[in-house]
Amino acid sequence: MITTLTPLFESKSIFHEVNERKANKGFRCIYCGMDEVVHFGKTTQDRQRYKCKCCDKTFTETADTPLYHCRKSEKWIDFLSCLIDGMSLRDSAKEISVHYVTLFYWRHKILTALAQINAEELNGIVEVDETYFLESQKGAIPTHRSSRKRGGSAKKRGLSTEQICVLIARDREKNTFYKVIGRGKPTKDSLELHLGNRLGTDIVLCSDALRGYKLLAKNHHIQQYVKTGEKRVKGIYHIQNINSYHSRLKRWLNRFYGISTKYLEGYIALFNYLDQLRFDDSERSIKELAVDVLMNKVSDTNNDIRLRQVEYV
Ligand SMILES: [Zn+2]
Repeated sequence: MITTLTPLFESKSIFHEVNERKANKGFRCIYCGMDEVVHFGKTTQDRQRYKCKCCDKTFTETADTPLYHCRKSEKWIDFLSCLIDGMSLRDSAKEISVHYVTLFYWRHKILTALAQINAEELNGIVEVDETYFLESQKGAIPTHRSSRKRGGSAKKRGLSTEQICVLIARDREKNTFYKVIGRGKPTKDSLELHLGNRLGTDIVLCSDALRGYKLLAKNHHIQQYVKTGEKRVKGIYHIQNINSYHSRLKRWLNRFYGISTKYLEGYIALFNYLDQLRFDDSERSIKELAVDVLMNKVSDTNNDIRLRQVEYV
């Protein structure tokens, strides 16, 4: 039984912090984007309401957050706890008495918010490597466990169309960029698209011998260290940090049965968040997670989530 964190939520301390952080950044109208937003009373649920002086529209503090139109929002913070503990939707449903289909949408709105937190710039020694996951077309809402058992193997050996490539790049300050880039090996164009504008200063790119990495380094006139064969780590240039990141990611993802490929990036985003912060499951950590989730714009409706299609570039 988890200790309920509802009081933390009821105290309004979370939205208080979210609103303050938004105010510091220049609180913008969700409709017209102007920053002439003023307080405009409270809702019957005691939520802050805002009014935009430019377009005259009003909105509440939950607008464009995963808590918009969320009934039972007092249970939401307890669900965060279930999520980071890796509990299934059904177990979470029993734990906090919210239907598991509702929790499915809660989960994916949280992941959609977190997927907006990603490294914008990598500096110094940057390790880059890709890792692969079996493609899964599993239906959106779980009705039974995945037909392909956890850790199942691809029908074809080696790299096939069933393997989805996830690109990870990480500098020694632990700034980490993650991206699900689609089937097969990364092309030079996709590496350029995703990494080209994130390469900061004094870069030494450490990678394996994949041609795309070589071309990326060449195009940006940066030094490259190429790992060849199984030779042992020598000095500071290696891709061991990224390889151990891949292992931690895969181990952590195992707790969720058969993740549908279209939701994979969201789960990686949650892992990345927890991994970076050395998350400790304390009340303070969960509050920080809640604030970070609510800071990101999520306007997807339940239908958007369920019918999501991913197109890879
Ligand atoms: Zn406006």
